[in-house]
Amino acid sequence: MARIVMKFGGTSVADLDRIHNVARHVKREVDAGHQVAVVVSAMSGKTNELVGWVQGMPKACGASSPLYDAREYDAVVASGEQVTSGLLAIALQSIGVDARSWQGWQIPIRTDNAHGAARIVDIDGSEIAKRMERGQVAVVTGFQGLAPDNRIATLGRGGSDTSAVAVAAALKADRCDIYTDVDGVYTTDPRVEPRARRLAKISFEEMLEMASLGAKVLQVRSVELAMVHKVRTFVRSSFEDPDAPGMGDFENPPGTLICDEEEIVEQQVVTGIAYAKDEAQISLRRVADRPGVSAGLFGPLAEANINVDMIVQNISEDGSKTDITFTVPTGDVEKALAVLNKARESVGFDAVQSESGLVKVSVIGIGMRSHAGVAATAFKALADKGINIRAITTSEIKISILIDGPYAELAVRTLHSVYGLDKH
Ligand code: ASP
Ligand code: MG
Repeated sequence: MARIVMKFGGTSVADLDRIHNVARHVKREVDAGHQVAVVVSAMSGKTNELVGWVQGMPKACGASSPLYDAREYDAVVASGEQVTSGLLAIALQSIGVDARSWQGWQIPIRTDNAHGAARIVDIDGSEIAKRMERGQVAVVTGFQGLAPDNRIATLGRGGSDTSAVAVAAALKADRCDIYTDVDGVYTTDPRVEPRARRLAKISFEEMLEMASLGAKVLQVRSVELAMVHKVRTFVRSSFEDPDAPGMGDFENPPGTLICDEEEIVEQQVVTGIAYAKDEAQISLRRVADRPGVSAGLFGPLAEANINVDMIVQNISEDGSKTDITFTVPTGDVEKALAVLNKARESVGFDAVQSESGLVKVSVIGIGMRSHAGVAATAFKALADKGINIRAITTSEIKISILIDGPYAELAVRTLHSVYGLDKH
């Protein structure tokens, strides 16, 4: 007997038939004797619709400002999960499984006060644990909690992954199964490289890099949380027949386990290749080379909530002027240029140039810590294909390379193959 948290994303609960299918997955685990809590997203597309309504409301009233109250945004947008939790509880009851729905505030899942992008601070799992021990399934709304002002708060888009991991940590679950529309984590995006392989296991650190650097399987914060609390997290498909052979295998179910690196016996040097589109490069020419310049540039960018990623600064030839290049999301270029032009006078630089539509390709693997030459292999492979490198950043377990947009897929396939990740 184990304790399992099962999370189902929007496509897995998109209509009544799929919710029935989800109920059958849950019943399988209950029938096997496990204690089960379920975390659900809203039906796919629902949250977007709700967000659209909130954004349209002020204008529909002829208001001159498009601004709206974040507390009311949360009140509206959290309703999608309320619907699916109730429907799944009904579905479970209809097939003979004892179940009860739980809104974030009923547990409660306590968050901070950052309405619209709240963080979970505490979960009191005692009541649902008691009921799980008696065989009742708790169906918990993802994406929401209760803020200190006693109002519903949502966790930011994609937040139900984080809810699931947090609930699993609070309940000390043996595993958190994230059911989604793909059957695991792949060495790279299979739509770009059909020879991508599904990984049986990946370490928390690597998954964190994969998610941060473009892989869309899990919300980044959920991986952070899983790493901190050591929640064994399992990515698997909800679309398979719930009763197909092996689906209920506790030791070795189909999917990808995200776990401590100690659990991974045969560590490859490189585990995966991620990519992120829509990067933009901004270059400042002939910036004064003196203390305080970077603070003078990146401080105002941070205040404007612009996420700066790769930063490259050249050594100045004569000790007085240098070039600084960095990347931001393409959507933030205009805002960044406005901020920089404002800072121009106090910081001092000659010109600013920008280029959008670039791609960051990243090579990820904890094996890099103990292997030399991983970066050199990437550079040579890209050079052989005539792909120009614009910027490079590295950490202990990853190399990120900025290239021109049209080369994205070629670069991903080239790197996937040069590190021996292709399926044979
Ligand atoms: N329904 C929310 C969203 O679409 C949360 C989630 O699905 O993870 O962002
Ligand atoms: Mg999701």
